[in-house]
Amino acid sequence: MMKYINNWINGNELKPFNNSYLNKLNPHNGEIIACFADSRNEDVSIAVNAAQNAFEDWKLLSPIKRGELLFQLVNLLKSNFEMLAKCFAVETGKPINDAIGELNAAIRLGEFFSSEGMRMYGRTMTSTSWNKHSMTIREPRGVAGLIVPANTPIANITWKVFPALICGNTVVLKSSEDAPDIAIEFAKLSKIAGIPDGVLNVIHGTGLDAGQPLVENTNIKTISFTGSTKVGLNIANIASKRLARVSLELGGKNPFIVCDDADLENAVHWASLSAFSNAGQRCAAASRIIVFENIYQEFVERFVEKAKKLKLGVDINCDLGPLISKKQQVFVKETVDKALREGARLLCGGDSPNDDLLVKGNYFSPTLIDNVSIDSEISKTELFGPVATIYEVKNLEEAIDLANYSSYGLTSCIHTKDLNKAMRFAKKVIAGVANVNIGTFGSEPHMPFGGFGDSGNGTREPGLEALDVYSELKNISIQFE
Ligand code: NAD
Repeated sequence: MMKYINNWINGNELKPFNNSYLNKLNPHNGEIIACFADSRNEDVSIAVNAAQNAFEDWKLLSPIKRGELLFQLVNLLKSNFEMLAKCFAVETGKPINDAIGELNAAIRLGEFFSSEGMRMYGRTMTSTSWNKHSMTIREPRGVAGLIVPANTPIANITWKVFPALICGNTVVLKSSEDAPDIAIEFAKLSKIAGIPDGVLNVIHGTGLDAGQPLVENTNIKTISFTGSTKVGLNIANIASKRLARVSLELGGKNPFIVCDDADLENAVHWASLSAFSNAGQRCAAASRIIVFENIYQEFVERFVEKAKKLKLGVDINCDLGPLISKKQQVFVKETVDKALREGARLLCGGDSPNDDLLVKGNYFSPTLIDNVSIDSEISKTELFGPVATIYEVKNLEEAIDLANYSSYGLTSCIHTKDLNKAMRFAKKVIAGVANVNIGTFGSEPHMPFGGFGDSGNGTREPGLEALDVYSELKNISIQFE
């Protein structure tokens, strides 16, 4: 029997107002696995009203009490681990080991922010007047509209919901149309955890029909969006008309530099993980590999050998699954083909695999390309697929210049044994994350993540910095005799 995924509003499942549903396809084989609510403005309004009605009581609960309830939710994520990991592994086409890793990271994030209930620090300050005490406290902002993509769905959800709720906001979460099921399972657990009805609501649907009405709703005081730069710009435009606060976590075209003194085995290992894990569907994926000329040949040979050995599929021993949609598979193929027509050299991959078990899925083979112009489309555009271009440079200065030759500035990485090179890179690279001898991805819950340029609008989530997104600072001053 077909599974129907409804909205979650005021602590209950709710059918979409117009009773219309969209098909959710399995990226591994193209089969329909569920139908999900095709929400519109009416559904969004109902959800926002529910969140609005729940706000005053949730706000008045002490942060410690809110943290206790959120900890219950974390405990439920742990006790339902297998069900949850399977749920989003199937809808996104992730090998189960990837889903397990992601869910563990989401749990750690939940633990971090639940504990923040006991540490909602403000500052106490001196004053120019004698016997005047001045302090800051954090207050919630109201209803937060949270919009997420499907690439790491449970991480994306927890990344926003936990900090928003610990600060005392209520939430309307717009799930990704490519991963609606995990959002509703998460919301159901929040009710079992004892989080009051209306505090966390979920709507499904497309970006234009469900996402945009959420952004346009004037009762939404904070919008936190993770997704493409194009949509982020549109959201910023709409929100600026009413001064809603906006946090934008957008795309990347992240450089990975390999110096001639690098441990090549380690560099190839991390370059491969950064470019190809999660099928390259990471904002933090390494899509521009920049290699010193005197080791170029050797590095490329080893990298290609590694890429050719990667196993595609959804089984436990697979390295990467399919892309999230057919549309995405076609886009990646067309961009690669265009680069090849313009004279790029294909080192491996370049197409979908023709293996019987994979042909129905949205697979794309790990692809490495060189001999591309730094101004070509493939050098500048985020593909969000398992494709990396490789560039040859003379020295560190040229490598850093090329790393910075991008409108994005999200993450970056260098491989070198020289501390001076590493630090020169870390200081000069234009990116929110600068890593040394690891990968371009792998953010941690207590550390701020976000980017320069087209990668965001300057906010940072998660880490303590996320509290600044979801709260207002109030300055209280007390004069006594
Ligand atoms: P997308 O921008 O198409 O969609 C993201 C979400 O926004 C979806 O839920 C979608 O329904 C919604 N949406 C689409 N149009 C909308 C509109 N007009 N108004 C409101 N909501 C709308 O992105 P995607 O293709 O799903 O995800 C891939 C992108 O996400 C990549 O660019 C990737 O780099 C980025 N991303 C960034 C981070 C980060 O932390 N910086 C993390 C993961 C993904």
